Amino acid sequence: MRLAVKSGGKSAFNEWSMIFQKLMPDLNVVDWEEATRHPHSINFVLAWEPEGDILSRMSQLKGIISTGAGVDHIIQDPLCPRNVPIYRMGSEEISAQMADYVLWAVLCCVRRTWQWHGAQTAHNWLPPAPNRLAKDTTVGVMGLGHLGRSVADRLCTAGFPVKGWARSPYDLPGIKTYGGLEGFPTFLENLDVLICLLPSTLETVGILNTETFSALPEGASIINVGRGSHLVERDLLDALDDGRIAGAVLDVFAHEPLCTTSPLWSHPQIIITPHAAAEATRPSKAARTVEIIKAIMRGEEGPLRYHPDKGY
Ligand code: NDP
Repeated sequence: MRLAVKSGGKSAFNEWSMIFQKLMPDLNVVDWEEATRHPHSINFVLAWEPEGDILSRMSQLKGIISTGAGVDHIIQDPLCPRNVPIYRMGSEEISAQMADYVLWAVLCCVRRTWQWHGAQTAHNWLPPAPNRLAKDTTVGVMGLGHLGRSVADRLCTAGFPVKGWARSPYDLPGIKTYGGLEGFPTFLENLDVLICLLPSTLETVGILNTETFSALPEGASIINVGRGSHLVERDLLDALDDGRIAGAVLDVFAHEPLCTTSPLWSHPQIIITPHAAAEATRPSKAARTVEIIKAIMRGEEGPLRYHPDKGY
């Protein structure tokens, strides 16, 4: 079996080769130049932004694995083959990192960290304010997939009452779950912190908007770690300015890197991180790739396959 890797350029290829050699010695790993020269010899691709015309010439291709959580960079190319399964990157390592990040972000919201940051910048010693406890802070996780469940679980363990929302309800210990559009209003009721971990689809684009913010209790906070397309930025700025929303922690943006002139940067109640919540290391990406290759060779579906009908 031959795997073509397009990730990190020439300098990273030696590292990829060594990692795969240890994990699956009989896998023949080649770089993108070699794949471009001999596309018919390639069975699997692990890549970021692979050119569709090259993929379409890979007549023996059995699977395309994205090095990231999204697959837009693959499917947006009209020449990308439609009959080959595509996989999103994921691993326990990414879920654990995401759970760590969201726990930190939720605590920032609970303690209104943006106020301390503003006071520190102004050398201003704020008078003490009442501290809220985790057990009195209800958090809601939109999206109960590979990452959402790990986040919900971590928050539950940290003592937060947790609600979850997906296309249909789940049976998760200690977590109240709601499904579909009909369950959305009840899910939003009484949330102190709303966390978005949805994929970007036609149904979810712009879901963090005025209507959603208005259904939350006054003074709730927003954490967006899904995709920038989920958030209507103008609606958030308005909700912050009229006091309906207390603050936001944003890791993902419609255009990345976030433009230096964006008003989000300087808003006193917004904390910005540069799409840094969770990123797998090369060894863990390689391990997941081998897992997918072996599953496909056994005739199984394999983890985190992209379903074009669902859009994620
Ligand atoms: P999954 O595909 O595993 O899970 C998606 C979840 O969203 C599922 O629970 C699904 O419901 C739910 N969902 C999808 N559409 C709808 C809808 N219309 N209404 C209600 N629920 C819906 O995704 P992941 O957990 O792997 O990833 C989640 C997000 O995190 C993605 O946007 C990804 O890009 C982002 N991400 C961000 C990173 C960062 O560093 N900021 C790093 C990695 C990922 P159901 O279970 O019913 O199918």
